Amino acid sequence: MAHCRACGSETNDEFRFCPWCATPQRRKLVEFFRGVDTDPARALRVSRYVPEKLVRFSVWDETGTVRAAVSLDEGEAARLAEFVAAPTRKASFMDDLRSLARR
Ligand SMILES: [Zn+2]
Repeated sequence: MAHCRACGSETNDEFRFCPWCATPQRRKLVEFFRGVDTDPARALRVSRYVPEKLVRFSVWDETGTVRAAVSLDEGEAARLAEFVAAPTRKASFMDDLRSLARR
């Protein structure tokens, strides 16, 4: 059984984050994202290097070869996440009036 480096609580080796304090439990977190381009064999690998506070993006082809890579610092990665996230539409004044009228 593993223990959290930050709070010492009991965790599991499989956990990426401590369930008690949310501290990352691994030094490197990795996710793959499948591409939808005409070349379906490509994938984006995103690696978060926790101690270094870097996020690395790499494009992999069907042979498992990295075709391109770039690293972003936490600020640029957060800006990218905001850009990629689905846009949320702020309610307009007219929306507020319609909502009031329905009551
Ligand atoms: Zn913890």
